[in-house]
Amino acid sequence: MAYVFPPAATVSVPVAGLDAQFPVRRIYCVGRNYEAHAREMGHDPDREPPFFFCKPADAIVYIAPGETGEFPYPTQSKDVHYEMELVAAIGVQGKDIPVERALEHVFGYALGLDMTRRDLQAQMKKMGRPWDIAKGFDHSAPIGPIHRANKDSHPDRGAIWLKVNGADRQRSDVSQLIWSVAETVAYLSTLFELFPGDLIYTGTPEGVGPIVKGDLMTGGVDGYGEFSVKVV
Ligand code: MN
Repeated sequence: MAYVFPPAATVSVPVAGLDAQFPVRRIYCVGRNYEAHAREMGHDPDREPPFFFCKPADAIVYIAPGETGEFPYPTQSKDVHYEMELVAAIGVQGKDIPVERALEHVFGYALGLDMTRRDLQAQMKKMGRPWDIAKGFDHSAPIGPIHRANKDSHPDRGAIWLKVNGADRQRSDVSQLIWSVAETVAYLSTLFELFPGDLIYTGTPEGVGPIVKGDLMTGGVDGYGEFSVKVV
């Protein structure tokens, strides 16, 4: 088949310990999934159903372990925030997945940053408009390598943290997720059929805040190492 121009390259993320890439299909993100973060954003963290937004697959910026990646400060914002998150990578297709089978659909996990134009998000919320320009901008989804999971290695606890220029900014534990990875996958699969290659940014803990050009963000989740990203 002839294309009128070459199709965009497939976005992919390296898999730790494998000489093969994880091809990215879609990026789903969960909003307000840690109680203390919901409170800091001015919401009552009652256990409402989780809500979701998306980023385009090509918002991915791969951050190699041991190297300092780069996050270009985006246009049209003066208040860009970090959100350190655990990312679940889907490896098995499914819809209406029961919670007790949900982890069988998870290929592995990665460190991720859900970078956010907070000023534009606030404006869009106020006007009742979509969040895309706040959340789905170019380079808005830094991610580390994907670590394969097996049935005994799905994280239900473990520190999640982020430092800016060496100073603690976010520190929580993935046990504090309001909706666990299994519950999130199960619920999301009632809204969208999930396919291999889908990524789910599972939400950020409290302590979100702004970065400026020149800042160095370093983040990690126990068991998945850490990564460093410089704002350029
Ligand atoms: Mn987020």
